[in-house]
Amino acid sequence: MVVDMSEWKAISGLQIAIDGPSGSGKGTIAKTVAQAVGLPVLDTGLLYRFIGYSSMQNGATDEAGVLACMDECLGDMQWMPGGIFVQGKNIGDKLRQEDVAAAASRVAAMPEVRRRLLHVQQDIAKNGCVMDGRDIGSVVLPDAQAKFYLTASLRERARRRWSQLQGLGAEVSLDATLNEIRLRDTQDAERTHSPLKQARDAVCIDSTTMRIDEVVDRMLSIMERRALIEKT
Ligand code: C5P
Repeated sequence: MVVDMSEWKAISGLQIAIDGPSGSGKGTIAKTVAQAVGLPVLDTGLLYRFIGYSSMQNGATDEAGVLACMDECLGDMQWMPGGIFVQGKNIGDKLRQEDVAAAASRVAAMPEVRRRLLHVQQDIAKNGCVMDGRDIGSVVLPDAQAKFYLTASLRERARRRWSQLQGLGAEVSLDATLNEIRLRDTQDAERTHSPLKQARDAVCIDSTTMRIDEVVDRMLSIMERRALIEKT
């Protein structure tokens, strides 16, 4: 099946949760699915990256420091389908760096940080959206009508992230990227609060040998079969 981006209509308030580890392709796939069904897309990783980034800027390391920093920085930012904006400027490029990803993973293990961000995420999702992250299907949107867990082999995920970083002009080796991703996988899966895991009712898709359009096709057919989307 070839996806025609204009042919689908989602049921009212449809929430689509896409979770998975770094480099599983969930960001790109969430965007494509959202465009296909006419829903806004929200990348929750960006939110954690923003808190990680602001904490780095403020030298906040422990949870109390990060929370104090959140009180200030959350008021200054706008999280929208197009990204994170501070004073009207999209700061996405700053948030995509690997040191920010590591800081995001550290603050994401702090329970009170997660608790505060939970409401921010639920509020923005309430009228329907495609949301991607680590705990969307299990914690943030447990009642989402469609849940997917996207994965791929460690090497393939590292290769994808590495070429993304090359595109941003970063000078980093494939091995270093692989090690960074392995470390983040462990941190994200082993933390006590909202660890990365497949929700019980999520459909798992291994994208190691699949193209983006094949993954998107599979998701759309599943949602069509469940009468969550229909051809217009
Ligand atoms: O998806 P991305 O790589 O941008 O996420 C950065 C970090 O934010 C992840 O490694 C993870 O620790 C954290 N995160 C999370 N829960 C989410 C989204 C991201 O803990 N829903």
